[in-house]
Amino acid sequence: MIQCPQCGNFVPPTFVRCQFCGRDLNNIARAVRGASSGTTAKEVLYYILAGLWVLFGLLGVVLGSLAYAGVFGEEAATEEMGLDFAVAVVQLLIGAGLLFQADWAIAIARVLCYITLALGVLGLICVWAAFDAVRLVLILLNITLAGLQLWVLSDF
Ligand SMILES: [Zn+2]
Repeated sequence: MIQCPQCGNFVPPTFVRCQFCGRDLNNIARAVRGASSGTTAKEVLYYILAGLWVLFGLLGVVLGSLAYAGVFGEEAATEEMGLDFAVAVVQLLIGAGLLFQADWAIAIARVLCYITLALGVLGLICVWAAFDAVRLVLILLNITLAGLQLWVLSDF
């Protein structure tokens, strides 16, 4: 985030104009981006992760709609479907918010990452006791992704 020199509000560094007072922010945004090296790779990663949120959300919404329409047969339409659909819609909204660097989306994504980390560590303990190699890898993958996302989000 960069601070507008005219009105003092904070604006995402990708904005060329202040969204509050309309001041041209091109020079400030460029200076901020140039000053911190290595931000570009993190920024690319940020948009990849945001894109994944949107992609999974869209996929869930489309699959949910198809299932609701009875494409996969009657037995596919269960009560859990409604919850899956709601989760997909929320994922899609958060993804869209992340793409626009909305503060609420970043805050929610952060909380979800912490929850994933906590659940992952809990799962690790359970799976470790059960010697389930496949689930162990999946949980480790989840933890790594959540950690990576938290690291990326720390700049925004
Ligand atoms: Zn301003």
